[in-house]
Amino acid sequence: MHEFSLAQSVQETVVTIAKERAAKEIKKVILKFGAFALIEEDQFRFCFDILKKESKLLENAELEIIWISGELRCQECNFEGKIEDIPQKHTELAPIFQCPTCESFATDIISGTEANIDSIVIN
Ligand SMILES: [Zn+2]
Repeated sequence: MHEFSLAQSVQETVVTIAKERAAKEIKKVILKFGAFALIEEDQFRFCFDILKKESKLLENAELEIIWISGELRCQECNFEGKIEDIPQKHTELAPIFQCPTCESFATDIISGTEANIDSIVIN
């Protein structure tokens, strides 16, 4: 379940930052997730809500998620652009995304794989 481990690493990172800055509490956590990172938002929020109760600093924090659209470049037909409805096939190594125009799997990801902490609001 990669949402849980991701939520765990976000929790650890923001609590560490807040402690370094001698914060009394974390009011808000803003994250940036790419469409190709394949994160289930409800699942992530559920995990994060459980984890945030483990820390007094984090227990009342609001969670904001900014979604970055996924863009592909196709090696077959030269399609380049945003993918709204993400068709995907999972291999053992990494998900492969299909070209919406010619359905080729020979695609390169231009953007949308990020799963980062954008910023936090502390008190
Ligand atoms: Zn194509």
